[in-house]
Amino acid sequence: MRILLTGAAGFLGSHICDRLLAEGHTVIGMDNFITGNRENLVHLVKNKDFSFIRHDVSEIITVRSKLDAVLHFASPASPNPASPFGYPNLPVETLKAGSLGTFNTLDLARINQARFLFASTSEVYGDPLEHPQVETYWGHVNSVGPRSMYDEAKRFSEALIMAYYRSKGADTRIVRIFNTYGSRMRLDDGRVVPSFIQQALHGDPLTIFGDGLQTRSFCYVDDLVDGIYRLLLSDEHLPVNIGNPSETSILDFALKINRLTGNAAGLDYSIDKRMDSDPQRRCPDISRARSLLSWEPKVGLEEGLMRTISSFKEKLGMK
Ligand code: NAD
Ligand code: UDP
Repeated sequence: MRILLTGAAGFLGSHICDRLLAEGHTVIGMDNFITGNRENLVHLVKNKDFSFIRHDVSEIITVRSKLDAVLHFASPASPNPASPFGYPNLPVETLKAGSLGTFNTLDLARINQARFLFASTSEVYGDPLEHPQVETYWGHVNSVGPRSMYDEAKRFSEALIMAYYRSKGADTRIVRIFNTYGSRMRLDDGRVVPSFIQQALHGDPLTIFGDGLQTRSFCYVDDLVDGIYRLLLSDEHLPVNIGNPSETSILDFALKINRLTGNAAGLDYSIDKRMDSDPQRRCPDISRARSLLSWEPKVGLEEGLMRTISSFKEKLGMK
């Protein structure tokens, strides 16, 4: 297939490029570098099956060659207001990527009669009242809260995609991605994995927001990419959760990272400012992914963290 992937210079986008190329496809990456990084793609510069277009997806997209698939991953993704790369500091950009960007990529897919796949999120469930989260759960989202620019953009995109599927015959797919980690995450976007690992490698205490009893379920990037690739090849049009159902509190997660890195500096509970918007429990029900895609995660948390710690050490020039 000839595939256009938006958000290609980001964490997930760059890993998806690698997988698509390894499967023998031709990939056109698109990004405006608002939160992504050129370094994530340098290893592909000489690959004849890869090309790159610098472009903002909220502007009309023109690609002259025929496309077989369009994957829309472009969007800021970190909720941390303390980072300039967090979506609270890019609110209009985030809403445009998840509205105009979705219109533009959907139109491109429809004109080309191409497969379309959208990167949605567990955030469509908000601060969920049902646990674990099944795709049929409608969510508990504050449309004017501090995360609304992201949550509502993703929910709008899902509604738009279903409208194109139902009324215009577009060949669409929606993946609801739960917290994913691995190499090439931005070190400074404030998400918990790069923040904790970096703090630990520098011998600093890990900054726990709130009491640390809130939970997340962390999926290693290779597992996620495999689930996304299976969904792309499938004919499933309703949303599918992809994530690792192994749930952990942020406190236990921090203790694990300190143990794996040998960090003796402990924890810092002094920052409390995100409690008003922080989902308290998050864990995917992956029954649909299991039955429709024969997919489940294979990499355990410790193994995935060891690989990620090693890649961050390299990035920080520590080995
Ligand atoms: P990331 O910030 O590393 O990558 C996002 C990429 O999109 C960046 O390279 C950025 O420059 C690009 N981008 C943003 N707006 C753009 C625009 N208007 N035009 C062109 N490019 C633009 O984040 P990520 O973690 O790789 O997330 C990728 C996608 O997956 C996002 O849509 C995100 O919402 C979704 N997602 C990620 C996770 C996760 O755990 N990583 C969880 C749920 C959903
Ligand atoms: N978190 C934390 N310390 C940090 C960064 C994040 O305790 O330095 C917590 C945050 O409050 C949330 C969880 O870790 O409960 C995951 O945060 P992240 O920003 O990675 O993404 P989210 O899952 O909230 O979208």
